[in-house]
Amino acid sequence: MILQLKKPWQDRTTHVELTPHAFLTRLASLVPRPRKNTSLYFGVLAGNARRRKKLVRKTERRATRTEDASWAALMKHSFGLDVLGCPRPGCKGRLALVAVIFDRAEVKRLLGHLRLFTEPIPVKSARDPSDLWTEAYDFH
Ligand SMILES: [Zn+2]
Repeated sequence: MILQLKKPWQDRTTHVELTPHAFLTRLASLVPRPRKNTSLYFGVLAGNARRRKKLVRKTERRATRTEDASWAALMKHSFGLDVLGCPRPGCKGRLALVAVIFDRAEVKRLLGHLRLFTEPIPVKSARDPSDLWTEAYDFH
């Protein structure tokens, strides 16, 4: 595949030819690792700078460690889902965590009683990303 550069390079290169796999490799390398801080501050804005307090407004109350660790807080933070909100339309009630069940047989019995899936959904095996790429774009 041939990519047109947004701006020509210093050597006046305007296009780059890459295989789909090479393109995906380069693209993937731009994705930051999970939980890596992508905002870095220097000088007076650095986290431990002496004069930072005078410049930066105090942030709102931070969540405590227990709030951070709760399942509902994590679901809210990660997916924006309010998992403890009542699912009935119009009801603004809050659900409460009653129990956490780890016993597989008990989980299966409970799901069966609720007429929900009792077996995990089958997962397809992974495939080479370049296969997906060539399916979406017909290269010749
Ligand atoms: Zn309700």
